[in-house]
Amino acid sequence: MTTQPSRREFLSALSAFSLFPLEQEKPDLILHNANIYTMNPKEPRAQAVAVSRGRIIGIGSNPDVLNLASAGSNKIDVGMKTVLPGFIDAHSHPAMAGAMHLRMVDCDLRSIAAIQAALRERAAKTPAGQWVLGFKYDDTKTSDDRPLAIADLDAAVPDHPVRIEHRGGHTIYCNSPAFERAGINEKTPDPPGGKIDHDSTTGKLSGRAAESARALFDKVIPNMLTRDDHREGVKLISKMLAKTGITSAHEAQGTPTDLLAYQDAHQAGELLYRAYCFMNYRFIDSMIAAGVRTGLGDEWVRVGAMKLVCDGSISERTARLSQPYEGKAKDYGILVMTEEELYSYGRKAHLAGWQIGTHANGDVGIDTTLRVYERLQKENPRHDPRFRLEHCTVINDNLVARIKALGAIPTPFSTYVYYHGEKMRYYGADRLNHMFALRSFLDAGIRATQASDYPPGEFIPMMALQSEVTRTDMKGNVWGPKQKITAEEAIRVGTIHGAYASYEENLKGSLEVGKVADLVVLGRDPIKEDPSTLLTIPVERTMAGGRWTYEA
Ligand SMILES: [Zn+2]
Repeated sequence: MTTQPSRREFLSALSAFSLFPLEQEKPDLILHNANIYTMNPKEPRAQAVAVSRGRIIGIGSNPDVLNLASAGSNKIDVGMKTVLPGFIDAHSHPAMAGAMHLRMVDCDLRSIAAIQAALRERAAKTPAGQWVLGFKYDDTKTSDDRPLAIADLDAAVPDHPVRIEHRGGHTIYCNSPAFERAGINEKTPDPPGGKIDHDSTTGKLSGRAAESARALFDKVIPNMLTRDDHREGVKLISKMLAKTGITSAHEAQGTPTDLLAYQDAHQAGELLYRAYCFMNYRFIDSMIAAGVRTGLGDEWVRVGAMKLVCDGSISERTARLSQPYEGKAKDYGILVMTEEELYSYGRKAHLAGWQIGTHANGDVGIDTTLRVYERLQKENPRHDPRFRLEHCTVINDNLVARIKALGAIPTPFSTYVYYHGEKMRYYGADRLNHMFALRSFLDAGIRATQASDYPPGEFIPMMALQSEVTRTDMKGNVWGPKQKITAEEAIRVGTIHGAYASYEENLKGSLEVGKVADLVVLGRDPIKEDPSTLLTIPVERTMAGGRWTYEA
């Protein structure tokens, strides 16, 4: 194992090789008169960049780069606008979300009346008897100060069954025809690991069902999505991501369907971001049997890490903690898989050369996951395994030291402090200084990434910057100020660190000769901006592989 070159050495050999022919090429595009932050520590600033066939072939001062131009070069004066490497979202669910946007009603609305109107509109276009599905509903974000009730849904859509998923992904809200289809009435007992809610005064169905009770509906909702729909979903989400400056995303809970959708969309010219597609552990045996491992693919669609899940969620307060949730003396959250299960799947993947990414939110979940990684590495040392801790939310000094010793990569939620401020009080002021802990990670020399977890979190990189730099929510409350980082650090987290997390730091993540031309042009300079208005900086253009994927 030690005699083979690492993937890193292999990739750097490739880029060194590509320099020679590129040197003879003339740029097809030059951006000049720009305020460029390269994220390359050797040459941090530049004024101009030259691109040929999707790659950067020159970067530096205006005269040096313009000197490379030929008659055929398209020269764009950027007017001193700021240019950064394209953003890398290292934990998101874009292919899944794209399919949802394609077929479901987006219920991220600020009142129950607005949700009703959106459902009514969709029902009018839906053949009688077919399901009306919704997603991204958040009970803490409507002005009504109460959750959706079955009567709201019945009033909006009486004739079609309706199911709406909560943004966090663990609860659903349904109308009466939906409960009928699922064969549930007010006397139906809760399934194991699930809950069918009742109105506390009348005892009637409230409309809400949680956890495993969701499966009772899944069983009766036909899967209408075709292979083409999945490709369309990727096309749709591609445009949404490009608009915010994202040029790469890690599909954190990928399936073979997602991997195929990415290939189909790429072949059709519709994929506008580079996808690092994780594989859920349920597919690991068939993947290994087919000779597939992490890294297979090309610079647009690549097989990512195997995904495992250790504990629960932060937004829905099931992450496994060493100290109980605020105001709930006995609630420590849950472990989803046992340490032995994590180890046995992890061992298979580790021996087969896969990267592993384990969902671990609470300090107990992270401790458990690290123990598994430490054991794998002790029993079968592998060069540069880059173990990932997906979310890695609640930390302490011991965990940080072990993450550093293993060379592991945390992917903390980037936008939660800003966007989900109303959920922070369940964790308490002291614990929040140890959550989404970018200051601690960077001080320890750990390459933590930007990560949205969309749909549960927002994916807008400028929101991530504001959230990480200010630790302030949209109402002005500050949560965990000890973990503030600078705008420049936040940009590094959102670019080169994300590239490292997928073994692609020699391909992207900074603006350097030989790397892909993935970049974003911003209306204002985030490093000079007042941190409280970072989110308002306009994204003017996004480029991936030398092609404009978004232009305002
Ligand atoms: Zn996720």
